[in-house]
Amino acid sequence: MSELVERASHFIRARIEADLSGGIHAQRHWAGRPGAAPLHRTGALDPARIRTRFPPEPNGYLHVGHAKSICLNFGLARDYGGRCHMRFDDTNPVKEDQEYVDSILDAVRWLGFDWQNPSESNLYYASDYFDDLWRFAEWLVEHGYAYVDSQSAEAMRALRGTLTEPGRNSPYRDRSPEDNLRLMREMRAGQHPEGSHVLRAKIDMASPNMNMRDPAIYRIRFAEHHRTGDRWCVYPMYDYAHPISDALENITHSICTLEFADHRPLYDWLLERLAEGGFFDRPLPQQIEFARLNLTYAITSKRKLQELVQSGRVVGWDDPRMPTIVGLRRRGYTPESIHRFAEQIGVSKADSWIDMSVLEQALRDDLETRAARAVAVLDPLKLVITNWPAGTRDACSAPVHPQRAERGSRRFHFGRELWIEREDFTEHPPKGYFRLFPGNRVRLRYGHVVECTGCTHDAGGRVIEVQAQVLPDSKSGTPGADQYKVKGNIHWVAVDEAVEVEVRLYDRLYREAHPEAGGRNHIDALNPDSLRRIRAQVEPSLARAEPEDRFQFERHGYFVADRKDTQPGVPVFNRAVSLKDSWGAASGGKAR
Ligand code: ATP
Ligand code: MG
Repeated sequence: MSELVERASHFIRARIEADLSGGIHAQRHWAGRPGAAPLHRTGALDPARIRTRFPPEPNGYLHVGHAKSICLNFGLARDYGGRCHMRFDDTNPVKEDQEYVDSILDAVRWLGFDWQNPSESNLYYASDYFDDLWRFAEWLVEHGYAYVDSQSAEAMRALRGTLTEPGRNSPYRDRSPEDNLRLMREMRAGQHPEGSHVLRAKIDMASPNMNMRDPAIYRIRFAEHHRTGDRWCVYPMYDYAHPISDALENITHSICTLEFADHRPLYDWLLERLAEGGFFDRPLPQQIEFARLNLTYAITSKRKLQELVQSGRVVGWDDPRMPTIVGLRRRGYTPESIHRFAEQIGVSKADSWIDMSVLEQALRDDLETRAARAVAVLDPLKLVITNWPAGTRDACSAPVHPQRAERGSRRFHFGRELWIEREDFTEHPPKGYFRLFPGNRVRLRYGHVVECTGCTHDAGGRVIEVQAQVLPDSKSGTPGADQYKVKGNIHWVAVDEAVEVEVRLYDRLYREAHPEAGGRNHIDALNPDSLRRIRAQVEPSLARAEPEDRFQFERHGYFVADRKDTQPGVPVFNRAVSLKDSWGAASGGKAR
């Protein structure tokens, strides 16, 4: 699919290409499954030229930022003859859940990637490494690289120092390896309450980098884990588990977001120590940071997205206004449009904002060439052709796709009563208005030319019907039809065969480009008009739309049959994106 998308070069590609041409990773062995060096040495040379990984924590649904990371990691593996591992970073027992695991796997597959390779499956769970992680921690303790600290959390914080002041050593820092080992085993055996002890790496309390000031690597937690149950009551910290998981899996390039740049010295320190212990062979995995995706008019934090779901401001994680992958999918985004977006925004080392219009345009660019065309009248007003005999119909047709004749045509009928858009008629035309008004002629697209003769009002003065007369020999595609020069060309659907459907007109979830600017609560920036439900009159072929069928409703935009609420014969359509950007890229969200 994304073969169609041009691949831009960037610093991570340059780095990988340099590593490959230098043969840096060529001598690595791979046992076919994760493990320490002695296991890998029993295997053949690694058939994967590079290994990357996508390592989400299963504590929520993935969002568009994760999609960027997925496209990057799986895309690099695909492009350079490597493998990308799907790894659940599930070392924190309390927030994690099987529901999230399943949704993450679905999202990755929907994006068109797979961890299932011909010879093996590269689906892993960091929780499967708990035994190794513990074994390595014991080695660190035995070799004076880690110790059990028994200070209270407050006392530990007080000695940690600040960005400008060095920290100070814990009174427990010089415990003997024997005492440390005994204590850590008691911790594991459940003999100490939560918070009474932590295991810390012994690095440097005076380091200018706070992450190197004896970071905690294990803590006591009496919590049930979604995969290991109550087997453990000590859990590793992210900064400890992550580099080791990478090394066990033979990862060559461990790509993460910029906020981890300050953690890289710790990443390297741990792997260096464990390489000393013979647990890992060189070259060790390298952490590479890139700028996270920040998207205007959106929030990309699982916690805040959860807030929207729990407060009922959206209907769920897959609400079509959510920037989650399930939300984008339900909205009508295609995997290809997301690949296209990820390629276009590129990869950089500096944080920046990407405008929502870039994502929307990627969808238009994709659907323009593929989506079937159809007619939908979103705000119906009746047009009566007074010189058309009642009960007679005229067959019309239109291409499924204007540039792809091989896709055939759609058939529908012209008749005496038609639905047109309310905005395609006015009694008092402003300058430059070429659609219907008394005395004016327009072409009814794929049908005939008509001349407006008048309209009817209800008691309140609202127009409820428009009248017109058809002009002879004016049917589209018949000889002489172009004798009529008209400037307006409007869409319509015959009343007797139109299908009434629900259409959901979605717009951006937030009114403001930066919903949290100035420390504001994003809830206050919600767009009150982000969803309007209407009843529309659509051409008959649309009654057969299947969930996730996508269309261009002529003159309106791209729509998708909702994947949850569409029933056989009763589609519900979501507006994925309008035909043109109506927000204006840099407008800062002005009202339209
Ligand atoms: P959140 O803070 O919303 O929970 P997270 O970064 O903690 O997100 P993880 O599950 O840890 O979520 O992320 C998995 C991977 O996705 C990480 O490698 C992370 O770097 C990447 N990722 C997360 N958010 C973004 C983003 N906005 N842009 C690019 N990559 C991202
Ligand atoms: Mg995280």
